[in-house]
Amino acid sequence: MVPSLTGSGSGLHVAPVNTAAGMVCRRVFARRARAPIPAGGCMAEYSVFSLVRHALSGHRSWNRAWRDPEPRRHYDVIIVGGGGHGMATAYYLASLHGVRSIAVLEKGWLGGGNTGRNTTIVRSNYMLDENAHFYEKSLQLWEGLSRDLNFNVMFSQRGVLNLGHSDGQMDSFARRGNAMRLNGIDAELLDRDQVRRMVPYLDFSQNARFPIRGGLLQPRGGTARHDAVAWGLARAADRHGVDIIQNCEVTGFEMSGNRIRAVETSRGTIGCDRIGFAVAGHTGHLAAKLGLRLPIETHVLQACVSEPVKPMIDSVVTFGVGHFYVSQSDKGGLVFGGDLDMYNSYAQRGNMPLIEHVISAGVSMIPSLSRLRVLRTWGGVMDMSMDGSPIIGLSPIDNLYLNCGWCYGGFKATPGSGWVFAHTIATGAPHPLNSRLSLDRFSRGRMVDEPGAGPFPNRH
Ligand SMILES: Cc1cc2nc3c(=O)[nH]c(=O)nc-3n(C[C@H](O)[C@H](O)[C@H](O)COP(=O)(O)OP(=O)(O)OC[C@H]3O[C@@H](n4cnc5c(N)ncnc54)[C@H](O)[C@@H]3O)c2cc1C
Repeated sequence: MVPSLTGSGSGLHVAPVNTAAGMVCRRVFARRARAPIPAGGCMAEYSVFSLVRHALSGHRSWNRAWRDPEPRRHYDVIIVGGGGHGMATAYYLASLHGVRSIAVLEKGWLGGGNTGRNTTIVRSNYMLDENAHFYEKSLQLWEGLSRDLNFNVMFSQRGVLNLGHSDGQMDSFARRGNAMRLNGIDAELLDRDQVRRMVPYLDFSQNARFPIRGGLLQPRGGTARHDAVAWGLARAADRHGVDIIQNCEVTGFEMSGNRIRAVETSRGTIGCDRIGFAVAGHTGHLAAKLGLRLPIETHVLQACVSEPVKPMIDSVVTFGVGHFYVSQSDKGGLVFGGDLDMYNSYAQRGNMPLIEHVISAGVSMIPSLSRLRVLRTWGGVMDMSMDGSPIIGLSPIDNLYLNCGWCYGGFKATPGSGWVFAHTIATGAPHPLNSRLSLDRFSRGRMVDEPGAGPFPNRH
């Protein structure tokens, strides 16, 4: 049950948390429970009345959406990484599990990593049970996220369509669609005419290089506004007393036996009882400071946006023979992306040959794209796992919890990842939804190999 916020003259109160996890966790953290942060006085409240009030005063008196606190000397839980996953984890830890003393440490600015750099596709069209149930939970959380956060994350269920170009590919789509339906997830197998009615601008000509045979549609999939997700989660977490500390890089750790006693940061040493990593492409780098070697490789992934055009594409479409996917943003730009740059790097930028490859795949799929100009390209650093599935759970260090291995697809996992990671940190044990997504699956040989490419992160 999501607790409701009730305002009063003296402050915000978190309504009772009725989950078993919440009860366990409240006992664990009860001795440190702090008073909730002061009432919304300094925080922005969003409602139709506040919008009208601020409109009448020229929008000059809005309050900050979240505080900018100095780090305290100690927190019950420290989350490293102020992307969507870190913020969602902090939000659910505070709101569902009643943890009062939480800091999110971010080396740059909130949402400046992959959360602010992705193509925003949200879906749960997975075949293997471990991924299907987890991503479906995440999709269900997306469906109520704007209301939960009182912040419009612009979640738009416009449908995600994978194009099929051969009989073999259509067979594999039928198999995946059936697996999805058996897991209670929406899936529709479309023939060529149905695809044509839905997206007529694709290349259906007689001499198309890659003829379209049909497609697999997940109608509940779609897109969300990436910045809004980070901001909405930050504002909601802040309302629950979470300290969001930006420009605070974690540079090392103080150990006490097999536990982390404190983190060393660019803003001083901060003690903690438990710590969660949600640093995506920097996970290997940070884990190495603890002597851990993880089955993660960091790769660059780029995306592009075209100049704005009139509404043209009202769904998400992925190409079946090349790595290309496209949707149209609310500002009119066509947002598209493709494959990895195929070399390891921590630089958040890529190279031109890959852009050329992506554009040529796009023009094969939608010939009229050739008349558009690309406005911007950018890159992010991806945490590619060795089986294409995420790692969410315990680590070899007693009080360290890992959230990584998101590969191309962690944005859609944002609420689900935070939800199960918060449970794992609060209770010290994984939730059933992430129990199979553990780190030790690699040593036990129980991989969740959804891409079927084996231990080759660059072949996903
Ligand atoms: C071009 C591109 C397109 C993508 N498209 C999609 C898509 O369409 N759909 C989808 O589901 N996913 C997509 N993804 C993947 C998705 O963006 C990521 O998997 C997801 O955003 C990861 O979120 P995060 O919170 O784990 O990481 P991030 O948002 O990267 O946050 C991690 C944060 O940790 C911080 N950090 C790192 N090291 C430290 C340190 N030592 N101390 C403190 N802070 C630190 C970083 O500054 C960063 O802000 C795409 C990614 C890219 C790059």
